[in-house]
Amino acid sequence: MRFLLLSSVMLFSACVAAPQQPLETPQAKNPVNIILVMGDGLGPQQLGILSAFARVQPESDAGFRDLAANSVIGVHLPFSEDSVVNDSACSATQIGSGCSCLPQQVGVDSHGAPCPSFIEVAQKLGMKTGVVSDTRLTHATPASFSVHVENRGSEPEIAEKIAASGIDLLLSGGLSFFLPKDSAAALPADCAALKAPSVRADSNDLIRDFSTRGYSLVCSRRALRAASRLPLVGLFASNEMREAFSEGEGSEPTLEQMTASALELLDNPRGFALMVEAGQIDWAGHDNDVGWLLAEMRRADRMLRVINEFAERNPDTLVLVTGDHETGSFGFSYRKASEDETPNAKRNGAHLHFTDADDLRSVARARRSNRDTLREFFSLPSEKRSAETLARLASHASGHPFSIDEAKQFLACLDTTSKKPKVDSSRCPLGAFYPYEDLNPAVLLGRPASTRTSAVWGNGTHTSTPILVFARGPGADRFTGVQTSTELGARLIQSLPKP
Ligand SMILES: [Zn+2]
Repeated sequence: MRFLLLSSVMLFSACVAAPQQPLETPQAKNPVNIILVMGDGLGPQQLGILSAFARVQPESDAGFRDLAANSVIGVHLPFSEDSVVNDSACSATQIGSGCSCLPQQVGVDSHGAPCPSFIEVAQKLGMKTGVVSDTRLTHATPASFSVHVENRGSEPEIAEKIAASGIDLLLSGGLSFFLPKDSAAALPADCAALKAPSVRADSNDLIRDFSTRGYSLVCSRRALRAASRLPLVGLFASNEMREAFSEGEGSEPTLEQMTASALELLDNPRGFALMVEAGQIDWAGHDNDVGWLLAEMRRADRMLRVINEFAERNPDTLVLVTGDHETGSFGFSYRKASEDETPNAKRNGAHLHFTDADDLRSVARARRSNRDTLREFFSLPSEKRSAETLARLASHASGHPFSIDEAKQFLACLDTTSKKPKVDSSRCPLGAFYPYEDLNPAVLLGRPASTRTSAVWGNGTHTSTPILVFARGPGADRFTGVQTSTELGARLIQSLPKP
């Protein structure tokens, strides 16, 4: 695909050289429906792993391939007002509203003034509105399209504002943020079955607020399927929804199923505006977990197929697919071949191994994230937390033998004196760009799998990599060329019908 040929350097020089795209083009016309897909952490290389895997397993990238074939392609530079690297909250705010903000801000500009997102503008225009995410409703990306707060960390406040937002359809995890601290909310049976504890410090019953405003509440795949009217709120997990490896297990719907339900319920003659987030691509990137990354990209691909089919049947729909930033400085590379393998390239006497189809097959054998594996390991009684147990769990997770020696080396790097195990950076330095102590043990556990498959990572945070923008449907031409994320947001707002 041609987008894989673009290097960051080319994109940056294009940015410097290219004149600003006019915001209105003569052929621009406005759609009836707008669907924005946000891949959190979806950089070009994250798309690249899916395209590479499709050479091993054709059709695994059918959603993105079909999208690319029917789209114009642009690029956005994910800068905030005062930084070249951004976080999900401010980036989503800029893409959703066209305002310019600072990292961590949710739906406000850099001065703290509220910025209406395209969802909220659509609502005022009488269109139906929806927000769907496979993380939790109060998380940075869905929040930035729904509410206005200074900091993404204030999730209990975000929950209150979401309950008052009037958005017609809300589907994600995060039930715990909506429950009062000291009393039991009146929950339907499928919601009570989640046994979600309240994480609020107050007695605000936001479930009652939803009910007063006429919402139906569902907490299971079955109840979502049976839902037939708006407004509707679906809270399918206490906190975050499941990772891609186990998505759809238990009572949770998949991202694909949530998207299909959203499209069915929102479709109406006056049009709708919908944001769908594939949110855990970013989490796999923070953990440098290559197997998980591929699994999340395949989940996003399945969701995109549903959206493509809808766009096919409803050609008056604008579909925009992009990311908020890249996570992890991810890519595949080549390395010196080890002595026990046959090199697939030789140069100047050096035996080299270039990432190949077997590496991709190896990545795809992963069955569980390293994060989830460690969650189980550290929840065991201390006498059971042995190198043998860890080797068994890590072997199952990666789909490859993880040796007892590797497990011993990993455990020797940990500081377990505090309640949450962390990497002892004096013994095993990860470097300056791994600031999240709670995530770093997962980063370290994933290193053997990355090395084996020639997957390389540069950090445990976000990068300034330019991000691809796919646009199909009426007015798609607005989104070609190189633009900042605020310019992208302005074009999105302009795509709405005129009042
Ligand atoms: Zn992130």
